[in-house]
Amino acid sequence: MGFVRSLLWFLLWIVLIGIAMYATGNFAVADYLTGVFLALQPYLPINVSFDQFQIVLTILSLLVVFLIVTGSAVLVTWMGTRLSVARQQLAAQHAASERAIAHLAEQQDQQFQQLIHLGQTLTKRLDKRVLVQAIVDAASRITSTAQTNSTVSLWLLAFGTEVVQFEIGRHCDATWFTQAELGIGDPSVSRAMQKQETMLLPSVAEQLPILRKDKVAQLGSATAGLVVPLVIENTVLGVVILCCHPDVLKSHGERQRFYEAMWSELALALAIAIQGELAIIDRLTGVHNREYFMRRLVQEVDRASRYQFPLSLLMVDIDNFKAVNDTLGHPQGDAVLRIISKLVKREVRAIDLVGRYGGEEFIVLLPETGLGREGSSTTGAVLVAERIRKAVDEEFQGLQKPLALSVSVGVAVRRFPDDRGMDHKELIRLADEQLYKAKTTGKNKVCVHQPEPASGVGA
Ligand code: GH3
Ligand code: MG
Ligand code: MG
Repeated sequence: MGFVRSLLWFLLWIVLIGIAMYATGNFAVADYLTGVFLALQPYLPINVSFDQFQIVLTILSLLVVFLIVTGSAVLVTWMGTRLSVARQQLAAQHAASERAIAHLAEQQDQQFQQLIHLGQTLTKRLDKRVLVQAIVDAASRITSTAQTNSTVSLWLLAFGTEVVQFEIGRHCDATWFTQAELGIGDPSVSRAMQKQETMLLPSVAEQLPILRKDKVAQLGSATAGLVVPLVIENTVLGVVILCCHPDVLKSHGERQRFYEAMWSELALALAIAIQGELAIIDRLTGVHNREYFMRRLVQEVDRASRYQFPLSLLMVDIDNFKAVNDTLGHPQGDAVLRIISKLVKREVRAIDLVGRYGGEEFIVLLPETGLGREGSSTTGAVLVAERIRKAVDEEFQGLQKPLALSVSVGVAVRRFPDDRGMDHKELIRLADEQLYKAKTTGKNKVCVHQPEPASGVGA
C-alpha cells in the first residue's frame, strides 16, 4: 500500500514537472520570465544570471506546488476521516433506533399478553376469595421489577361506610400497617379515595404514614409507592397500596395508558367479586344474609353426616335492642348492629359461618364442633357462645342505658352418630328454644340444649 502511494506521488510530480516544462516551452512563459527578470535585475542586491533566476524560480514554484498538493492531500484525508466518523455515528444511531423500536414492539407485545392473561385469570373463577387473590397477584406481577418484588395490599370499602379495610396482601400482611381500617380522609389514601387519582409516592417512608416504620427496612429497594383507586362508574370500590422500586413510578408515568387499562381490569374484577358477595351478604352488617346462611346450613348438615362430625348452631339475639332505636334513633341502632356483628365474627373461626337471621338476631354455624365437654381442651359450642356473650358485655360495659347492651344465646348441637336424623330445621328449633329460655330467665346468658345422654357427644 505504501509503495503504491509513493509511486502515485512520484507520477504526480512527473506529471506536474511535465506540465510546467510544457507550459514554459509553449506558452511564451520563458519570454515573460525574461521580461520579469530584466525588470527586477536593477533592484536585486546581488548579481544574478538569468539561469540562476530560473533555477530559484523553479525551486520556488515547486515548493508552492508541493505545499498546495500536500495541503490538499491533508485536507482530503481529514475530510475523509470526518466523513467516516459521521457515517459510523449515523450507523450506530440507526442500530440504536432499530433496537429501541424492537424493544418497544416487544414491550407492547408483553403488555398485550399481560392484559390478555389478566383478563383470562380474573374471569376464570367468580369466587371473591379467588378474585381478590388474583387482583393482588396481578398488581404484584405488573409492578415487580428485576431488582425487587412489589408488596401489594388490597383495601376494600366496608358496606355502608366510608372506610376501607385491609383485605389481603402479597409479600406483606396486616401487621405491616398501623391500622386495619382507613377513613376516606386518611392522608395515606385521601387523594385516591376522594379525587380518584393514582397517588405516586417517591418515598413510602415519608409519604405513607400507615406503613410501620420497622417494616420500611424490609422493603429493600422497594422504596417508592403507588396508591391506586379501583373505580367503577365513579365509585371507588377499594384501593391497592403498593410499595415498589422507584423505576416503576417512572414507567407508570411513561406507560400511563397501559397502567390505566390494567387498573380498570382489576377494578372490574373487584366489582365482580363484590357483586357476587352482595348476593350473599347482609349490606348493613357485612355478615351473611339469611338466604345464603340457610343454603349453607343445609349443605353443612349434609356434609356433617357424610364426614361424620358434629355441628353446632348458635342463635344470638340482642337484649332490649328496641330501646336503642326508640331513644337514640334508627341510625344509632344500625351502628350497634354493625358493632355486635363484628364482635360475633371476631369470636369465631374463619370456617364458621355468621348470618343475620332477622332484625337484631344473628345465627352462627360451627362446623366440626360439638358441645365441648367440661374440662376439655377442645373449644366447644358452649365456650364459643360464652365468648360472644362476654365480648358484647365488655364492649358496652359502663355505658348508660339503653346502650348498656348484652346478648342472649341459644345453643344446639347435632352430634354424630346420635343425631343422624336431625335436619337443619330441627337444629334451628332447638337453638331457638334455648334462646327463648335465656330471654325468659334473665337475659345476658347462654342456654344450651342438653341432649339425651349418648355415647357420641361431640368433641
Ligand atoms: P329482647 O330483649 O326481648 O330481645 O327485646 P328487643 O327489644 O331486643 O326485641 P324486639 O323484638 O322487641 O325488638 C327488636 C327491634 O329491632 C325492633 C326493630 O325496630 C329493631 N330492628 C330490626 N331490624 C333493625 C335494623 O335493621 N336496624 C335497626 N336500627 N333496628 C332494627
Ligand atoms: Mg332482641
Ligand atoms: Mg329479636
